[in-house]
Amino acid sequence: MGSIPTYSRHKKRRSDVKKELMRRIPKIDEVLNHPAISKSGGEVPPGLFLKSAREITEEKRQRILRGDEVDEEDISIEAIAMQTVKRAKAYYAFSMREVINCTGVSLHTNLGRSPLSDEAGRQVIKAAFGYNTLEYDVERGERGSRHQHLEQLIKNITGAEAAIAVNNNAAATMLCLAALGRGRETIVSRGELVEIGGSFRIPEIMEESGCTLVEVGTTNKTRISDYRNKISDNTAILLKVHTSNYRITGFTEEASLEELVKLGKENGLPVVHDLGSGLMEDLSDYGISEPTVKASLRAGADVVLFSGDKLLGGPQAGIIIGKREYISRMKNHPLARAFRIDKLTISALEATFRAYYDRDRALRNIPILRMLTASEVELAEKAQGLADKLSSVSEKIKASVVITENQVGGGSAPGTFLKGAAVAVEIESISTPKLERLLRRLPLPVIGRISHDDLLLEVRTLLDGDVELIAEGIKSILNDKDQNDD
Ligand SMILES: *Cc1c(COP(=O)(O)O)cnc(C)c1O
Repeated sequence: MGSIPTYSRHKKRRSDVKKELMRRIPKIDEVLNHPAISKSGGEVPPGLFLKSAREITEEKRQRILRGDEVDEEDISIEAIAMQTVKRAKAYYAFSMREVINCTGVSLHTNLGRSPLSDEAGRQVIKAAFGYNTLEYDVERGERGSRHQHLEQLIKNITGAEAAIAVNNNAAATMLCLAALGRGRETIVSRGELVEIGGSFRIPEIMEESGCTLVEVGTTNKTRISDYRNKISDNTAILLKVHTSNYRITGFTEEASLEELVKLGKENGLPVVHDLGSGLMEDLSDYGISEPTVKASLRAGADVVLFSGDKLLGGPQAGIIIGKREYISRMKNHPLARAFRIDKLTISALEATFRAYYDRDRALRNIPILRMLTASEVELAEKAQGLADKLSSVSEKIKASVVITENQVGGGSAPGTFLKGAAVAVEIESISTPKLERLLRRLPLPVIGRISHDDLLLEVRTLLDGDVELIAEGIKSILNDKDQNDD
């Protein structure tokens, strides 16, 4: 291959260079026949190599046309074949993968919120691989309702008159407002106009559901008289939103749920409580003082809404419980169909709720509750176990136990810090940010956190078997000579 003339400021020469480069881009067939592709194994469907080779050669062409710097090496068949393999493999790889959560944040929204219990996982697998009674009544041999699987169970567990489960709590809020308040007014405190994770904002949900938002009080103080003064013939709902992900402290006042219930009764208006987290068992003994579902019903809320995958510890879902007349209006609303849950979610929710028949069983079997109620001693032992394991991998590793503070996460219990334990890890000749990156980019990513220049692996959020998997990950980092992380 003769050398290609280098760029000159001369227009004509430059276009010659471009032409020559374009001409030298390998043909698709040549790329596909390159040994780099045939040797890369039979995993990746051939169509993906073809797609990738086309894209990559086209990108080279565009770069040349734009006048970007492109040299002979960039368009060599070796380079293009290698890039083709890399891209085809990346396309074929699973995007959603398992990770090991070493952040200590139990309800990590970015890491999938709550892991399911063993039983919930088993039920999901059964539902996934076979036929089932989703909408079939085996007694009568006729069509049944998908709501039947959960309603009695949720009523038994919560003591509510009626229940329905939908896709998530955002959908629950939307359905509730649309079914009970469309075309009319919903009164909410200015201190409770929450935003949850960017896309869920109470005022926006309200608008979408066709309700008119009537704000009362101020950010820091809302009294029951503020609600009373705004009630009109057009009022449909008194809404209370739990400020799940922030606290307003200092010079504050809010109307209690009890006061709102009394006001609602006096005026024949339903009180809807968006609880967010859906804590079923009181965890104040463990330092978590979130309101419980039962307390909300006990206070007299007509409708209570909460998530399935926050402190309940189940799959993504929105649970709506409360008075029969209101729930049946929601069941019959067209949005109920749009927001309905599938057989996999029903299976996981059923298994999750069943665990709550026995408090001890729930705390033991539901991973989120097990993590949040882990004792300091248990965490310290787990951390020591991890530190010993990592130290035994190589002399280059320094691992020591440190006492930390863990947040609950998932927009729950803001300002609550649970005493946790972590392992601070150092590896000779690898900087802390680099080590964090290498662990995060492992085939089985290990997600730690950096605190004051230390890489911490928190143990509260570890699941069975994770200690060994972390040790294997670290071993592979040590064995990878170049530790290439760009
Ligand atoms: C988390 C939360 C929601 C949204 O719930 P998703 O299940 O994530 O849709 C709504 N309201 C409150 C108060 C919340 O905390």
